[in-house]
Amino acid sequence: MILDIRPRLLCDKHLMDDHRQLHRVYSELAKGLPIEAYKHRPDIIRWHGYLPALARRHYFIVEEMTRRGWSCGTNHRTPIAGGDSPVGVVYPEPLMSELAQLEYLLDQGCRCKRIFCIENGVAKILTGKQYQQVVQ
Ligand SMILES: [Zn+2]
Ligand SMILES: [Zn+2]
Repeated sequence: MILDIRPRLLCDKHLMDDHRQLHRVYSELAKGLPIEAYKHRPDIIRWHGYLPALARRHYFIVEEMTRRGWSCGTNHRTPIAGGDSPVGVVYPEPLMSELAQLEYLLDQGCRCKRIFCIENGVAKILTGKQYQQVVQ
């Protein structure tokens, strides 16, 4: 499932996973098959007709890869055209609420929990003391 939360909050593993899945879904939908072809794939069907939004999410993922200093960010070998502009981009309904997605990530035993916590139902990037408490 492609997540809807901002790439900054994802640990390295989840950032890579999201990128990989996004390309899988994008190349599937680029075939131009009718929506019925994906009736058993809610994770894909949700993006049917929303390729510009998928390209936009890809843009933000690559931006985050670049921010982390990854060479696959600055030298991206799998570009998706058109993601750099917000014009005309409409996002599909999420499969899970943002809060549920954040809770799911914190449950995975990965480093996401070193990046953010949930405060009053929204993600908050850990800083200083909070971060120290998590890494100990
Ligand atoms: Zn890519
Ligand atoms: Zn993670």
